[in-house]
Amino acid sequence: MIEILTPTQLAGARETGALVAEILQTLRSRCRVGTNLLDVDRWAERMIVEAGAVSCYVHYAPSFGRGPFGHYICTSVNDAVLHGLPYDYALADGDLLSLDLAVSKGGVVADSAISFIVGESRPQESVAMISATERALQAGIAAAGPGARIGDISHAIGSTLSAAGYPINVQFGGHGLGSTMHQDPHVSNSGPPGRGYKVRPGLLLALEPWVMADTAELTTDADGWTLRSATGCRTAHSEHTIAITGDGAEILTSPR
Ligand code: MG
Ligand code: MG
Repeated sequence: MIEILTPTQLAGARETGALVAEILQTLRSRCRVGTNLLDVDRWAERMIVEAGAVSCYVHYAPSFGRGPFGHYICTSVNDAVLHGLPYDYALADGDLLSLDLAVSKGGVVADSAISFIVGESRPQESVAMISATERALQAGIAAAGPGARIGDISHAIGSTLSAAGYPINVQFGGHGLGSTMHQDPHVSNSGPPGRGYKVRPGLLLALEPWVMADTAELTTDADGWTLRSATGCRTAHSEHTIAITGDGAEILTSPR
């Protein structure tokens, strides 16, 4: 199903998007050397509940996970890239942390992910990876203008990641969203331009480029959720929820 939001629903989506952005930025500022991932999860829970929002994760039980997820945020560290289940781990200097958060408020979902380095050190490989996913995300957003097809967005994301030298895994990518977290259309992180669904005003999309430094292969942890690079290399992930408008894409999860 592809959902097209009404102007009222779109106003709600802006509110949800602002909340997701605010929670992610607050958590980012609290993630220091020694911060425990379980505390990050508790802080996320508190902020979601206090805002009158609902977690899209805590009861989430898709076919690929060992659900329900049971936590409020995905915390993926270093070689973990997607669906990182929070666990008893204290962050170390130089850790590459990805936080992925989706909540529903007023019946509309927003979904966003940020990657950043904990502490003072700035490993060059990690800096480059984060930058590549952020640039790919911006390229995808720029490609989502009037008349664009999903393939144009996929191509913009994929060619940016390839130009930066990263292999691309297309098992997980972006997606439509609205009253629920995952809807059609699927937005692959690679593909030929000019194909697929033509975007329309009122469509919400979550674009989410992610990369692993030297492999396209994932492994799943014993927790049934956390996805890691098969080689143990570092990884990064950037995601925004955007709304298609009459004159381009509006980012709903930008920090203010
Ligand atoms: Mg997400
Ligand atoms: Mg998503």
